[in-house]
Parts: sequence; structure tokens; C-alpha cells
Amino acid sequence: MNIHKLGWNSYFETAFNLLADGQLVPGRVVSEHKGMYRVQCAEGNFLAAISGKLRFQAEGREDLPAVGDWVGLRNRPGDEKAIINAILPRKSKFSRKKAGFATEEQIVASNVDTVFLVNAVNADFNLRRLERYLLLAWESGATPVILLSKTDLCPNIAEYINQAESIAPGVPVYAISAGKRLGLEQLSPYLGEGKTVALLGSSGVGKSTLANVLYGEDLLHVHAIREEDDKGRHTTTHRELIVLKDGGIIIDTPGMRELQLWNGEEGIQTSFNEIEELARSCRFNDCRHGIEPGCSVQAAILAGTLDKKRFKSYQKLQKELQYLAKKEKQKERQKRR
Ligand code: GDP
Ligand code: ZN
Repeated sequence: MNIHKLGWNSYFETAFNLLADGQLVPGRVVSEHKGMYRVQCAEGNFLAAISGKLRFQAEGREDLPAVGDWVGLRNRPGDEKAIINAILPRKSKFSRKKAGFATEEQIVASNVDTVFLVNAVNADFNLRRLERYLLLAWESGATPVILLSKTDLCPNIAEYINQAESIAPGVPVYAISAGKRLGLEQLSPYLGEGKTVALLGSSGVGKSTLANVLYGEDLLHVHAIREEDDKGRHTTTHRELIVLKDGGIIIDTPGMRELQLWNGEEGIQTSFNEIEELARSCRFNDCRHGIEPGCSVQAAILAGTLDKKRFKSYQKLQKELQYLAKKEKQKERQKRR
């Protein structure tokens, strides 16, 4: 396989060359199952474990391989088993709070170029939710593109496009119907050879339908692969990174479907840029934008230039981020003890 079709480029090549290890070959993680990784290389497909050194050096889950990662692999011809010795720096990453008590970053997809934020134009359409997804996208380092889906059911699509554009300046918005195959040609610039796309959106908005239409017939051939688990039984897992026949790569992991906020500071500034701007001209530096005199945010709400709901959504996200930051600090303290 030509690894440029898998997304290999000069960015990863430079990082790979810095490893300066002639025994390694580059490969991309296409699925993970119980600590074993499916890795696609030029030479073929390998079932890989991570090296002892990599495991020893890992400080958290973010230092372990994730679907979408480029890795340095040690393999032997004729042997399906291989060892991952290094993870190349990620161009972008989607991560979530690990479920449970401790907050730990878990990467659910990496090296995504474009993330399709899928929203159905029906009664479930929700700008506040779209704002959350935009935030996750900016935070990940991938470029967001908004897809308004199921447009075959919608008589006033222009109105939805306007609404989406109003909260996402500069982000492309496309109306599509995967079910009726409408508007899909607009997506082809994002699905060129070696470009990686991920889908984000609530359940039921049509992500699987879109992915199926994009995979076309390929899906039947590549989706399910059988792997041997640690007890030697065969189990079926899903390949979570798929190379389309006509170019383009789609990452679809279960984790992507349950994303939560993580360290969104940078994203919040991009998503809510106009509120951050307003806040800078409040009279007090530590203005909470409540009843303080000289608050530019409240003034904008009164003047009708800032939507009150949008401001509420901003505040809610900030609270979540503060909570996460607090838990993270606690964890650090425990570690030091
Ligand atoms: P997911 O949960 O986001 O993966 O959503 P699915 O792809 O499973 O779709 C949820 C439901 O919406 C299914 O019943 C689909 O048949 C339906 N659906 C998906 N795309 C379209 C579309 O373009 N138009 C219409 N009318 N229905 C669609
Ligand atoms: Zn203020």
C-alpha cells in the first residue's frame, strides 16, 4: 500500500527521520482492541503491541497510541505480530475525559484534518449544541466544517444556513442529504487522497448514513476484521480508520461518539471570540459580567447585539472548563504525594 493514501506527508516524515532508527517503518493505527493495535504499513497490516520502553515512559493514556496515530513500528517479514516503538507527534487530536472518577485525557482520534460537524435540520436543531461541537473542533486542531443534514425534509434550509453561519464566522456550512444523495459533491475537497476526516454530532443526525454513502461498497469488504484476543479466541472488531477507494480517509471510533470537553481554553477563545473581545472592554478586569457597572457584555445584551442565550452557553462552558482544571490540579497534587 502507498502510505500517502493513508495520510503520510512531509510533517510525519520529518518526525520519523528524527527517530533515526533504521529498524523502524512508519505505520498508521487503524484500530485498537484491548491494548493491541492494528497498524497499516506499506508492507501490509500488522497486529502490534507497544514496546516495554514506550509503556514505561507513558505518563498517562495520552502517551499511548490512538486510532489515527502514525507510529514507528518494528516488524519482521512474514510475521503478523509487530511492536510499536514510537508515536509520531500528532497534528491534531480529539480527546475526552476518561469515564469514572479520575479525569484523565483519553485520545479518541488523532491526525484528523477536517471534522464534519453534522446537524440535522429538524426539531432537534440546536445552535447551543453546535457551539459545543465547534469548541471541541477548535480545541482538537482539526478544521471544522458544518454539515446540515437531512435537508430533504426541510423547506427552509436557507434559514438554517443563516443561523449556523451567525455563530460560526468563517466556518463553511453545507446543506446535504445523505439519504437522498444531495449536496455530497461539496464534500469532495475535504476527501482528497491522504486527507483525514472525522464525523461529530449527536446520535440520529445521520453520521452512519453519511459514512456508509461515502464508503460505498468498500464498507462490506473492510469494516469488520477478525482478531485473536489474549485467550486465543477470534473476536470481531471494527476497523475504525478507513481509506476510501477514491481517496480520503474516514475515522469513526466509538469514542468520537461520546466526546466531552477537555481543556477547552484555546477553543473557547476562538468560538466565542466576540464575547472575549467585549469582556476586554469591561470596566473591571475581573468583571463577572453580572451586575457590575461598566460591563460591556451586559451592555451588548441590552443593546441586542449579543444573544443572551449565547452568553449563557459561554458561561456554562467556562464553568465546565474550570471544574476540569480543578480536578486536573488535584490529580497533579496526588501524583506528587
Ligand atoms: P447517526 O446516529 O448519526 O449515525 O444517524 P444514522 O445515520 O443512524 O441515521 C439516523 C436516522 O436518520 C436513520 O433512520 C436514517 O435512515 C435517517 N437518515 C439519515 N440520513 C438521512 C437523510 O439524509 N434524510 C432523511 N430523511 N433521513 C435520514
Ligand atoms: Zn463584564
